Amino acid sequence: MPRPILATIHADALRHNYHVLKAGAAGSRAFAVVKANAYGHGLLNVAAAISDADGFGTVEFASALRLRDAGYHQPILLLEGVFDADELHGAAAHDFWLAVHDEASLARLEAQRLAAPVQVFLKLNTGMNRLGFPAEQAPALVARLQGNPNVAGITLMAHFATADEPAKGIQAQMTCFNAACAGLQLPVTLANSAATLAYPHTHQDWVRPGIALYGSSPFGLARTAQSLDLQAAMTLESKIIGVQELQAGDAVGYGATFVAERSMRIGTVACGYADGYPRHAPTGTPVVVAGQRSRLIGRVSMDMLAVDITDLPQAGVDSPVELWGRQLSIDEVAAAAGTIGYELMCAVAPRVPMQVA
Ligand code: PLP
Repeated sequence: MPRPILATIHADALRHNYHVLKAGAAGSRAFAVVKANAYGHGLLNVAAAISDADGFGTVEFASALRLRDAGYHQPILLLEGVFDADELHGAAAHDFWLAVHDEASLARLEAQRLAAPVQVFLKLNTGMNRLGFPAEQAPALVARLQGNPNVAGITLMAHFATADEPAKGIQAQMTCFNAACAGLQLPVTLANSAATLAYPHTHQDWVRPGIALYGSSPFGLARTAQSLDLQAAMTLESKIIGVQELQAGDAVGYGATFVAERSMRIGTVACGYADGYPRHAPTGTPVVVAGQRSRLIGRVSMDMLAVDITDLPQAGVDSPVELWGRQLSIDEVAAAAGTIGYELMCAVAPRVPMQVA
């Protein structure tokens, strides 16, 4: 029998979430953001589940190629553009759409003679200060791109820093964008998941949801995935592979950080930080054992973690343990561990077998 850990990807949930996002952004097209191996869900698993997506967005040239090679003909947007002239020619050959975000990427586009012109997404910095030209340069940059025979079309692009934080919002970035781009009659893409869900006026021509597609809320527990009608696209589960009976005073795991105050039963689960479970998750982080909520106990080790089964007399060796998924929102686990759903799903390790259900 193999080690009992398994990640199940729920194709029906991916389809459901994509259509929830589309229904909320009626009139816009949607790039399903599938960078980082589709946020850990498996690029081709996700593409197959939402094969009717209007487009895909990624940052890795190799994943764009995998999508084309697998027969996906819809637009594929390279969210960070390309990194050298070879990739630029490859992008033209495969009709990848490209973010152009700085003078070097623009100069590269001007220096080459491409076999076919490419769709350019002019990335503007409206306050995130990560990638992008200063927004006020947009009119001059558009004029420059319009004179370039390698450019098939131009879409204006920006990214929000705080669409997931209602107290901060997006107003300053929208004001910046509108001031710079008001006169430009061009398609626009602005919205990540949070803006797609919270700010309809940002939807414009293309939305670019990632995290919500996977059933995690960009707002964490402040607006739960369930309240947004999003379904978990991944269940990470394992089994209890050993049981320990503790007396008051007995400690559990490395560092002996958890000490029992009374008699307890502890289940040892085949899942550790080498599987992608966060090592910094503290005692008390929720888990589901045989359908019942329980809690993590002590330090997570490389291959194992411990759960409290004191009040679950039916639980024992072979009992299923859900680390996150359909019974336990990844956002709850992330909140307990002081991180975000994004990080947990991206961290699921290659050694964890994955199946699509
Ligand atoms: N667009 C860009 C440029 C991104 O970098 C990302 C991800 O960080 C997304 C869209 C999707 O964001 P989210 O997963 O928050 O929906």
